[in-house]
Amino acid sequence: MKIGRYTVTPIVFASFRLDGGCMFGSVPKNLWSKAIQADTENCIPLVCRCLVVEDGSRTFLVDVGIGNKWSDKQRAIYGISLVPELEGGYKPDKVTDVILTHLHFDHAGGISFRNAAGDLALRYPKARVHLQAANWQQAQNPSPKDRASYLPENVEPLSNAQLVLCDGVAEIAPDIIVHKVDGHTPGQQWVEIRGGEKPLFFATDLIPTSHHLPLAYHMGYDVCAETLLREKLTFLDRAVQEDAVVVFQHDSAVEAAHVALNERGQFGVRTAVRI
Ligand SMILES: [Zn+2]
Repeated sequence: MKIGRYTVTPIVFASFRLDGGCMFGSVPKNLWSKAIQADTENCIPLVCRCLVVEDGSRTFLVDVGIGNKWSDKQRAIYGISLVPELEGGYKPDKVTDVILTHLHFDHAGGISFRNAAGDLALRYPKARVHLQAANWQQAQNPSPKDRASYLPENVEPLSNAQLVLCDGVAEIAPDIIVHKVDGHTPGQQWVEIRGGEKPLFFATDLIPTSHHLPLAYHMGYDVCAETLLREKLTFLDRAVQEDAVVVFQHDSAVEAAHVALNERGQFGVRTAVRI
């Protein structure tokens, strides 16, 4: 997909699964299960969808997937299946800039890997890594609420990366704007790409799947539900007004969509879009 000066390509690094109850917070199962079916262990299928954004001189990677530093036991628990096809056209060496929405393992796990000696190494050693300062702090001293999502093997190697920390809204490159939101975890950032007829909004965990478009549908993982709902409403109001392409990072079926209010006054998919 072309957005102004940029070519935007989705890349799915892995499929995995999480408990459906955790994914829908206070929404009862008899409601969410009408939209998405859980497996025998109550988990729902998810993917790690990231974006490659290129303008001919710089290549941005928005989030880096779940990575490959997983034991067999963890792979079974999370149902992790890495997508092998991406070895084809995707070249880590070309990446000049990594934009991390936040350092939860399903977004930042791919930032490091274990080399032949078993040591942790950066996957994109030459890239600038853009992150909110508040999230960098949170990841080093996580709250009990989301400690399990910040793994030291994803956080510590970043000390050796070319970190570019920002605070709040920032245009990190022409027409690439990051927006700080704190309801899911302090210092998460969603990414806006402008310059074309319609903007693209990469929603990250503010709206992880198309099933999370109705306001009340948010994750039990969110550290502050009230903050998240306010941020989500602001995001969706803008998405409707500007007819943005909203990308769903964890949706196994719907890559992206234009959104609208439906007849019941709830946000939902108006038209699904392939990026
Ligand atoms: Zn998250």
